[in-house]
Amino acid sequence: MRYAEALRLAVAEGLLGEERPLAGFLDADGIRDSVDALRDAFAAEPGVRVLHTFAAKAASLIPVLRLLADCGMGCEVAGPGELRLAVEAGFAPEHIVLDSPAKTRDELRLALALGVAVNADSLGEVRRIDELRPPGSASVLGLRVNPQVGGGSIGAMSTATATSKFGVALRDPGAREQVVQAFAERPWLTRLHAHVGSQGCSLELIAAGVAETYRLAEEINEVLGERRVTGIDIGGGLPVNFNDDETRPTFAEYVTALRTAVPGIFDGRYDLVTEFGRSLLAKNGFIGARVEYTKDAGGRRVALTHAGAQVATRTVFMPDAWPLRVGAFDGQGRARSGPPMVQDIAGPCCFAGDIVAHARELPELREGDFVVLYDTGAYYFSTPWAYNSLPRPAVYGFAGVSGGLRFAPVREAQSLDSVAAESGLRFADGLTGLRGRP
Ligand SMILES: *Cc1c(COP(=O)(O)O)cnc(C)c1O
Repeated sequence: MRYAEALRLAVAEGLLGEERPLAGFLDADGIRDSVDALRDAFAAEPGVRVLHTFAAKAASLIPVLRLLADCGMGCEVAGPGELRLAVEAGFAPEHIVLDSPAKTRDELRLALALGVAVNADSLGEVRRIDELRPPGSASVLGLRVNPQVGGGSIGAMSTATATSKFGVALRDPGAREQVVQAFAERPWLTRLHAHVGSQGCSLELIAAGVAETYRLAEEINEVLGERRVTGIDIGGGLPVNFNDDETRPTFAEYVTALRTAVPGIFDGRYDLVTEFGRSLLAKNGFIGARVEYTKDAGGRRVALTHAGAQVATRTVFMPDAWPLRVGAFDGQGRARSGPPMVQDIAGPCCFAGDIVAHARELPELREGDFVVLYDTGAYYFSTPWAYNSLPRPAVYGFAGVSGGLRFAPVREAQSLDSVAAESGLRFADGLTGLRGRP
């Protein structure tokens, strides 16, 4: 298997070891293949123009974004940091889409000056854009709606519930009329946006949300008597299978679900935008972590590794919603094959719940071994949590045929100087010198 080979080589080359006990890895060839699969799936509908953007938050690393730009993708960003990364990665402004529920006036000014597409999250934001839009801004401007089609299996990932904080809640009394009115008053408003949810939402649910958005576009254009809404941004959210190696559902299955629920979206009257994240990257990355110690506690074997909540935050806090597959490897990075033994795979953070896999059956792990957390290419090591001042791990890309894999650095491991600087070193005397009472 390709990732076993990558792990073995990473250990041999010293990218993982006693001094570097944790790293993230991304399969550059695999990422290209995933982009091809996405593009091919929509190309099966030849009548429609599609801009595929990548949701930057799923892997907010400039080399990853530049690879995706090189593959012809655009970039969806949700704030000033991601916008900066997208610009540094080299996306053209017309291939960048800014979504976020709390854009400041400064962020809006910058986006409108650059000419990136902006999806307003509320009618209040549409009124702000009224004030701020410079004459001749190249930005394509849209409005995010919440089709309120309901949630998926993970509440925190469901954006189309009745009370979701995102978009204009379309089924609320009077909301639809207000949206139509907003378009009637503003010739520059030309796009509708919906992102129904992420992991945990079925294809049918996502397609139902897109269908609602399409019906609204049709209604606006009919009431206005012109083709005002020219684009529909259908968001991302294709779920990922974390149980085994298979990619399912596929982008092709998603396109089929869309064709069934909303055939009109493909007839060429609307330009489409997509914003996939997890489904493009998750299965193209893994975490490698050293086993520092093992112990027995209350009859349970525990492996203390360097991968915990700082790189697998969701898994640690919501283990039932975000289970991860774990692989066991020896000190040379070769797959362990001993008889299965029930073990907790724990992380380095100082709280009791810092366990990435509870009571998992794996060959017995020993000090100096390595564990692999599979399917972690999106939202895991790329978005570490600074708990316990644990330094951010290095990230490497790899590519090549079997026997000839090569690595390239994507992000350096964080230095302790950087940890100290981020933790207020410059203001070390800031509080001792501050006294309210004489
Ligand atoms: C997070 C997000 C996405 C990407 O979701 P995935 O589940 O990673 O595909 C797309 N659009 C918006 C608006 C988002 O917030």
